[in-house]
This record gives sequence, C-alpha cells and structure tokens, in this order.
Amino acid sequence: MAKICLDPGHAGGNIDPGAVNGKMGLQEAIINLVIASQVKKHLVAAGYQVLMTRTKAEQVETDSLKYRCELANNWGADLVVSLHCNSAASEQANGTEIYTSLGETNGDRLATCIINQITASFSDLQLRADWDDGDPDKEQNFYILRYTDAPAVLLEMAFISNPEEAAKLADSAWQRDMARAVARGISDYFV
Ligand SMILES: [Zn+2]
Repeated sequence: MAKICLDPGHAGGNIDPGAVNGKMGLQEAIINLVIASQVKKHLVAAGYQVLMTRTKAEQVETDSLKYRCELANNWGADLVVSLHCNSAASEQANGTEIYTSLGETNGDRLATCIINQITASFSDLQLRADWDDGDPDKEQNFYILRYTDAPAVLLEMAFISNPEEAAKLADSAWQRDMARAVARGISDYFV
C-alpha cells in the first residue's frame, strides 16, 4: 500500500505554537497534531503506511522544514499532506483553503480529492478557492511543497483567528469529521 506522510504544522509548545487564539487559549500546533493523528488512524485502518513528521506536542527537531522534507523523502513517501490552521489580522476571515506547489503536478489532483471531501462534509465552511487554472487549489512556493519529492499539499483547515471557526477547530466532533474527510480525500487519490 502507498506510503502517506502526514505533516502536523509547527514544532509546538514554546518552540513554535503556530497561530494562537489567545482569548480561547488555542494553539494551532496542538490542533494540527490532534487531527493528523486521527487521519493516521483512518489511513492505517485502510491499509496505508503512515509516517508523521511530528508526534509530540513539542518536538524541537521538527522546527526545521528541511528536517521534515528529508524525513518524507528518505522514507520514500508517495504523498505528503501538511495540516495547518489559518490566521489573519481580521477576526472575520474564514474558510478553508489548500495549497500546492507552482505548476501542474499530481499535488493538484490530491488537493482536489481532499477539497471535494471537505466540501461534502462541511456545508458551512467557505471554500477559499483559486479557480484560475480550473482547480480549487492555490499555488505557493511553500518550503514543504517545494522540497518534498512526492506530490504534496498544505491544507489550512479553518481560521483559528475567527471566533466561530476557532470553536470548531477545538471541537472533538468537528476534528473527527475533518480527519475523516482528509483521510477519504487521500484514499480517493488512489482510486
Ligand atoms: Zn501553520
């Protein structure tokens, strides 16, 4: 079975908590890890091999994107899926978005598979899409997308800076549904 590398964004704890919602006491790095761990369970149950680039709440070596990419590449990952929570200065900013590297790659197809599952599961989550090239992903030269050998996507699940979405990100039922949607999207890629 295929080898899936899951990349929970940020090193966690005091090293790099990622985006933080101070009012609600939420740290992005923790949510990324919780949901990635659930994605892993689904994929392992379906027979995939899964490697997580970070498994602890705080893990110093993961503060290097180079380390994360080398981990995925040396393992021979077939896909890389990086999970993040979005953040903006405005509390109004909301929705989900997914990034791929520049140009047309298999990452685009993976992104579409994941987005299709997310929009099917979350009718209330705005899709922040870029349809210019005919698919919903946005393209950016993010390090984790650029320096991984396998098709890769970076998913910004929702905005931790938005009070309503922060409450969802912290909600175990929402986390479960998001993990299931991401896992299904990954499986769809191989159909
Ligand atoms: Zn992040």
